[in-house]
Amino acid sequence: MKLFCTLLMSLVLFSAVPAQQKAPTESAMSRFLRYVKIDTQSAEDAGKFPSTDKQLVLANLLANELKELGVQNVRISEEGIVYGMVHGNLADNSKVPTIGFIAHMDTSPAVSGANVNAIIHKNYQGGDIVLPNDKTQVITVKQNPDLKNLIGDDIITADGTTLLGSDDKSGIAELMTMIDTFKQNPQLKHGNIAIAFTPDEEVGGPMDQFDIKGWGAKFAYTVDGEQLGDISNETWSARTATVTFRGASTHPGTAKGIVVNSSYAAGAFLAQFPAMIPIRPETTAGRVGFIHPYVDTLDVRRDFDDQDIAAKF
Ligand SMILES: [Zn+2]
Repeated sequence: MKLFCTLLMSLVLFSAVPAQQKAPTESAMSRFLRYVKIDTQSAEDAGKFPSTDKQLVLANLLANELKELGVQNVRISEEGIVYGMVHGNLADNSKVPTIGFIAHMDTSPAVSGANVNAIIHKNYQGGDIVLPNDKTQVITVKQNPDLKNLIGDDIITADGTTLLGSDDKSGIAELMTMIDTFKQNPQLKHGNIAIAFTPDEEVGGPMDQFDIKGWGAKFAYTVDGEQLGDISNETWSARTATVTFRGASTHPGTAKGIVVNSSYAAGAFLAQFPAMIPIRPETTAGRVGFIHPYVDTLDVRRDFDDQDIAAKF
């Protein structure tokens, strides 16, 4: 699912430079391909932020690149948040509000972000896209009808064995390229622009430690997700609850009267979220909230007779 989302996000990378403008020193695509090589997978329940030290590799790289682009007050917080301020070039920058832009550095804990092999599908001519290193990973037109609007575009995907990491490294690449473009083109007038790159978005942190005041933006946009030209003016909040079902285990061959299989308790619990009541993501839309169980562990099964096993499946 993530692969499909990242596909759509990557398309924003291809925007032409108007003739009267100087091109940035590095294209958004080139930056993007550099950033996805850095593994920034976050981890659930690490008990600290950043949840993985490897996210700091990208944080340090981005902080240095911001400094090279002349961004002021660049700093990395204890939690791994990169802050910076692009000073405006107006006669009086205080006349306009400081606008903030945020993108996140981490990738989902669900799929590996190591050894990402980005593949550029040049001049897409329609049809499903089979990811070459795992042919079962197919980006289908049926599931992604927006592909029909992308004929003739270049599309970047992973090779099928990892996430691409476009969520949200394409956001970072776009913001860096924006800053670069402003630097090369002082004729483009703008007020102060606050920049932040955050760790651990995929695992719910550490935004409560975000230095809103020190950062200085009056309004801010997160550059992440959706399609080219879309702006979302509100977002939802989420909480994670961990529910643990404890059973009693022994060798299943001598289990009679002893084993309590916690899988049944989990099943009974999940059965309380009926399909027809709008409480699941697949039965809700718009501003209706949902509950989304997403991790499940089941144990082994055995039988003495092949037919008995077959009958149970
Ligand atoms: Zn994201």
